[in-house]
Amino acid sequence: IKFQGAYLNKQLPPRLGVPEVAFLGRSNVGKSSLLNRLVGKSDLARVGKTPGATASVNLYGIFDKVKTKGQQTSDANNSNNNKPLLGLVDLPGFGYAKLDKGTQQSIQDTAENYLAKRKELALGILLVDSRRVPTMDDKAVLASLYDMGLPLMVVATKADKFSTQVQVDKSLEVINRELGLPTGQPLCISVVSGAGIKDLWKIVLEAC
Ligand code: GDP
Repeated sequence: IKFQGAYLNKQLPPRLGVPEVAFLGRSNVGKSSLLNRLVGKSDLARVGKTPGATASVNLYGIFDKVKTKGQQTSDANNSNNNKPLLGLVDLPGFGYAKLDKGTQQSIQDTAENYLAKRKELALGILLVDSRRVPTMDDKAVLASLYDMGLPLMVVATKADKFSTQVQVDKSLEVINRELGLPTGQPLCISVVSGAGIKDLWKIVLEAC
């Protein structure tokens, strides 16, 4: 996996020629932790980073370890000649930031530009905190993603914060009802216990 770069405003990341899955959610929801956990790294996406540093579209490429024809070495860290398999995209948390209107608008433009124009986008994953009742912001963001006609999936983070399964189920039920989700959503995950991570990978791969 390799960080391909951060892109702002009307800039779009370079095309890898493979499907991409985009992750969205308010700051602190656990997006960086999830990206790190999905790829089994601890420092790929910075956890608990400073607000404002998350205004860009960040693309991570996942590459096959096998080099394309004609390459001599098999250095998996050098993705330059490795075959791309999939792109993971960390989108700025639009609609949420406690920032001034101008900054908020520019974050929104950046995210919407990617969402509207990226042909490779196979799935948008909206993260919500499993302990919180979805807010108007969550509903508005989900509605605007839905209006774009994107394949969507809602994931509830930090499931390990509950002490019983009954509490987990209750909370998932509230999120399902408040956001008007289909049966089976949100998918509940925890980067601490690993709950739901394999299921999420399966969904990501199926979407791609
Ligand atoms: P982001 O702002 O959405 O990228 O959120 P981060 O990944 O930086 O996470 C925000 C905080 O939540 C950090 O302190 C993480 O350690 C914590 N966190 C993220 N995911 C989990 C989880 O599944 N369980 C627990 N207990 N904490 C989590």
